[in-house]
Amino acid sequence: MRKLKFGLVGGGIGSFIGPVHRIAAEMDGLATLVCGAFSSDPERSKDSAQSIYRLPQERAYASFEAMFAQENLLPVEQRMDFVVIATPNHLHYPVAMAALDAGFHVVCDKPVAFDLDQALELQRKVEASGLAFALTHNYTGYPMIRQARAMIEEGKLGSIRRVNCEYLQGWLAQPLLDNKQADWRTDPQRAGAAGCFGDIGSHGENLISYVTGLHLESLCADITTFVPGRQLEDDGNVLLRFAGGAKGILSVSQIALGKENDLRLQVFGDRASIEWCQDDANSLVVRHADGPMQVLRSGWAGTNPHSIAATRLPPGHPEGYLEAFAEVYRNFCNHLLGGSDNVNYPGIAEGVRGMQFIQSVVNSAQAGAQWVRLT
Ligand code: NAD
Repeated sequence: MRKLKFGLVGGGIGSFIGPVHRIAAEMDGLATLVCGAFSSDPERSKDSAQSIYRLPQERAYASFEAMFAQENLLPVEQRMDFVVIATPNHLHYPVAMAALDAGFHVVCDKPVAFDLDQALELQRKVEASGLAFALTHNYTGYPMIRQARAMIEEGKLGSIRRVNCEYLQGWLAQPLLDNKQADWRTDPQRAGAAGCFGDIGSHGENLISYVTGLHLESLCADITTFVPGRQLEDDGNVLLRFAGGAKGILSVSQIALGKENDLRLQVFGDRASIEWCQDDANSLVVRHADGPMQVLRSGWAGTNPHSIAATRLPPGHPEGYLEAFAEVYRNFCNHLLGGSDNVNYPGIAEGVRGMQFIQSVVNSAQAGAQWVRLT
């Protein structure tokens, strides 16, 4: 049985999401980490390889360029198959372009690039390369999110009228000095044109699109920078209009004091509605026009095959963020290994869409909360 091998860019000592990628990618035994360029500092890259990942020094590279060149000199049975990009946003594009040029498949964290031009360029490159590209919108991997998506596709909610999505955090309610994660997220040179809308609003947009299948046509954004001196918005509300007439609101904040990762989605149809939140991710509340309220639970009777396929444990054992993240990897690795023709993971198209959304939020807000069509 072949196991895929991957290299990580980013994920050095003190970082957040790199180690999460490692756990998620390895969870189902389909892939293993073999190398990395874990930091822009070569010594730190070596230290990270040893202390976090237990990798041999010769597979800890001083730069992503060196990693791609050196890995391509290795015999195929040792060489990595794909690259995972877990760096701040401004590096996604150069690392992804170089990885594709070197012939490696790519898993990239969101947002896919620094701006829309880069995202479109990357899309052309991915399509021309014939290589696989996954974007880790990990919330799509929750069993009850898969459940909700399939129910909507099957028409169980009827015609969708309204969507409410909230992603509220409070960790940036004050200026955070000496915090690595806060530092680049509030810097337009490294984060991009948006603050909280690039960081977590992009997840909200993707979740809405994934679950409802609705096409976002236009939006109106009211965004605010509450913390004095901060250069990017840390809060905002966006009105949404979808093709076919459905309306929605996406409310995003990183100054909602006390909120941790309060991601919540409600979809209202003319026959039923659903409600899901990450704090109780194993439950999906369904309210019917002509029947009692239901609470569906992952792994329990009444769930659909899409939900069951994303469930690893018997009901009641909490599955969460890491397992949902691993679901993106399971789908991606199965695709690469040939076990599935189905590209059922977010990819470059979702990345471009996400950048269109982020750019449109900024354009709308700069025009004084004008309605703008997504380009
Ligand atoms: P972080 O600051 O904690 O980590 C970034 C890492 O990149 C650090 O180890 C840093 O040393 C490394 N790095 C910087 N420049 C580098 C270079 N030139 N070569 C190699 N490594 C380099 O940031 P984070 O919170 O882990 O976020 C990283 C990315 O992941 C961002 O794009 C962010 O939007 C995304 N993210 C996604 C999720 C999710 O749920 N999918 C959650 C958090 C972060």
